[in-house]
Amino acid sequence: MNPDTGRGKTAGVVGTGRSGAAAARLLAGCGYSVVGFDDSPSSPGTEHMSRFVLKGFSDNDLKNLSVLVLSPGVPVSAGISTRASELGISVIGEVELACRNTSADVLAVTGSNGKTTTVEWLTHVIRNSDPDAGAVAAGNMGYAFSDAILDNPGCPVFVVELSSYQLETTVSLKASSAVILNLTPDHLARHGTMENYGATKARVFMNQGVGDTAILNYDDPLLERYRNSSGGLQMYFSLTGEVPLGAWMDSSGMLRYKNESISEEVIHSTELALPGRHNIANALAVICMAASYGIPTGKLTVGLKDFSGVPHRIEPMGMAGGLTWFNDSKSTNVDSLKVALESFQEKVILIAGGREKNSDYSVLNQLIAKKVKYIVLFGSGGDSLSRQWKNTARIIVVGDLEEAVEKVLSLAEQGDSVLLSPGCASFDQYTNFEQRGEHFRQLVQALK
Ligand code: ADP
Repeated sequence: MNPDTGRGKTAGVVGTGRSGAAAARLLAGCGYSVVGFDDSPSSPGTEHMSRFVLKGFSDNDLKNLSVLVLSPGVPVSAGISTRASELGISVIGEVELACRNTSADVLAVTGSNGKTTTVEWLTHVIRNSDPDAGAVAAGNMGYAFSDAILDNPGCPVFVVELSSYQLETTVSLKASSAVILNLTPDHLARHGTMENYGATKARVFMNQGVGDTAILNYDDPLLERYRNSSGGLQMYFSLTGEVPLGAWMDSSGMLRYKNESISEEVIHSTELALPGRHNIANALAVICMAASYGIPTGKLTVGLKDFSGVPHRIEPMGMAGGLTWFNDSKSTNVDSLKVALESFQEKVILIAGGREKNSDYSVLNQLIAKKVKYIVLFGSGGDSLSRQWKNTARIIVVGDLEEAVEKVLSLAEQGDSVLLSPGCASFDQYTNFEQRGEHFRQLVQALK
């Protein structure tokens, strides 16, 4: 970061939540005078802004700006963004701003599901491989990349979670290793078609060249078209068989890795602490990322083995009231509910619901019949889900999570497992999935 870059200049920041506040902090640190734009008067992140424009904007507000930084929640098609472009102002995203202000290595992770888990796991593995390694996780997982740069000067490597929204407004990322974990139809409202959505995800490979590595899920047919789209070395990971280069699980359950010169066993899948095949896929991605970054595979095993997961992702919460509880509040779509159910050997009591996504939930019917003892539905999507899942398992519809937990207690038998995996957004009753998961934790704690 150069504190003189912005001296005498003004920058705009649209959206003053976590990312916007971080962008303003970084811009102010570079010497810019910062103008914030937000539609909400209760904007939290105005500390580093010398001026704040509430609701709307005029050409006068924009004309002196050298750069306009968009928060990830603001689409490039927003009026303020298109007008700024018309006026010749450079419009970028918060991640782009961060990329321009660090020379550290970047390991970039994107995909529809599993990003945060993979980012945290990879960071843990790198730190574990060498106490001086100093990797920091940042990005979409809740710690803005701009904040991470300011808080960790001298950090050699950032592991950055990137959403498609962030990739849309980033142009100078050059990741040493980058991965697309999977592609499922989420966020189509903003990206229009699956093709646009995939192309935006593939931007994670932008500017890669010799010495960099691009990693793709070999089992995902939607990712086939992005093979060899990077200027770096192409690697893959697969749960079903050997890949040309990269990591895979063999028929005995052993995770293996090969590059142009070595082919090695890394760890057996049964040694991983996290449950589910989806987490084996995440582990394979971590192996590709860490090994291609130069960490010897022998140094990966401890970190792969003892990573206990991220809160709200099929998080074991222990026994309470004679039952075993799991918190998967982060499950906000059909796909994450599917992988959660597939992670259990035994039948579970499922608590689901919230604000329904515009998806076909009946694709889960067979799985529910196989894996679920009872379903307790709560929130605004309760009735619709109950119609889509009829004849799969016994269904009880209640109003909220508290009632759902009460219902489970009255129905369950000693030793049952209870899984909160909503499959829906939380916004009908909560601010976000974290708040929903914490509420669930309190309700379960109260039973202990
Ligand atoms: P993201 O950051 O992409 O939203 P998370 O790691 O937060 O991903 O996990 C979100 C949800 O997706 C959780 O419910 C989790 O169990 C599930 N999940 C994690 N990894 C995968 C994967 N590789 N494929 C499908 N679902 C996954």
